[in-house]
Amino acid sequence: MSAKTSPPDAGLAPYAAVENRSSGRHYPEPQHGYRGEFQRDRDRIIHSTAFRRLVYKTQVFVNHEGDHYRTRLTHSLEVAQIARTVARSLELNEQLVEAICLAHDLGHTPFGHAGQDALNLCMSDFGGFEHNLQSLRVVDELEEKYASFPGLNLMFETREGILKHCSKKNARSLGELGLRFIDRKQPGLEAQLANLADEIAYNHHDVDDGLRAGLLTVDELSEVALFREQYERVKTTYPDITRRALVHETVRGMINAIVTDLLDTTRQRLADSRPENIDAVREHSSPLVRLSDETGSEHQQLKRFLQRGLYLHEKVQHMTGKAAAIVTALFETYMNDLAVMPAEHMNKAQRWEAESGAAGRARAVADYIAGMTDRYAVAAYQRLVNPDDPL
Ligand code: MG
Repeated sequence: MSAKTSPPDAGLAPYAAVENRSSGRHYPEPQHGYRGEFQRDRDRIIHSTAFRRLVYKTQVFVNHEGDHYRTRLTHSLEVAQIARTVARSLELNEQLVEAICLAHDLGHTPFGHAGQDALNLCMSDFGGFEHNLQSLRVVDELEEKYASFPGLNLMFETREGILKHCSKKNARSLGELGLRFIDRKQPGLEAQLANLADEIAYNHHDVDDGLRAGLLTVDELSEVALFREQYERVKTTYPDITRRALVHETVRGMINAIVTDLLDTTRQRLADSRPENIDAVREHSSPLVRLSDETGSEHQQLKRFLQRGLYLHEKVQHMTGKAAAIVTALFETYMNDLAVMPAEHMNKAQRWEAESGAAGRARAVADYIAGMTDRYAVAAYQRLVNPDDPL
């Protein structure tokens, strides 16, 4: 008797990503005895080296500032939680959406966006650096796990979801996967959902982390409609609530309100357009997974507020400046002397330089830096560049 209780596509809506319509894996593999293909993808991602490093990579706050701030690992888990809830309710492929969410930030450099911007600048003469493309590189090429193929050999739909954005220039080198950026088509619903869940997760946890760090105040946040509404509701309902619980109940209420809007709006759009399968979803002129106009603009208001109040806060900017300096100094140091990198990275840089010149050398250096955790990058900087910089 088979250990498989129901086929992996059972119970999914017609417009969900299903195994029997998938373009599958680049390197064909036999089916597994009791796991579906998207479930295997999720498991491969969880067992990857890049996934484990997410625990020591940050988004806004650097790791050593406190133990309670989000890291890229907890962020990815929160994105997966939000997206799985919606996927289950809409009968989308929950295993696929979870795989995409857990992998979506694998290509991020140390120190969040500051690190990515600095590395992109360093790479400007060598093809640039995009974290989305790097996430794809991690799962397609950089993970070394399997005997018969490079990377994790993930399903087409998982890779499609990981590649959230891509320049047209880079899209041309990606074959079938890059086509939607050239033809202006949509990815599957699971990819659309993971994308929106990512934004919802970071905007809301940045409110929570920003308040905890004392960089944002309740007064300032009250200019944001989504926050004000929930904050006043919780305070009126529970006049004696502690500050910590008040903040949590407010953020919880905000996420619940926005996810409810996302579900209602998307369900309505699916009912109106009735895509008969994932290919019809891809042909649609705009994403079917979305917020209502009103909630969408309130969400944008929150995003703009965080841009101004948190990401441009002088304390965050101070960290951002340091992060950029570390990444840039490391890039220059390695480019000048490959031998100060570990042997496997040095060998790769020499091999790629022989194949494609300075761009090959630079790509190997960028891969090495992008894989670093915050603390690894700080340690390398102090060892190789400036031992006296207290950071
Ligand atoms: Mg993210």
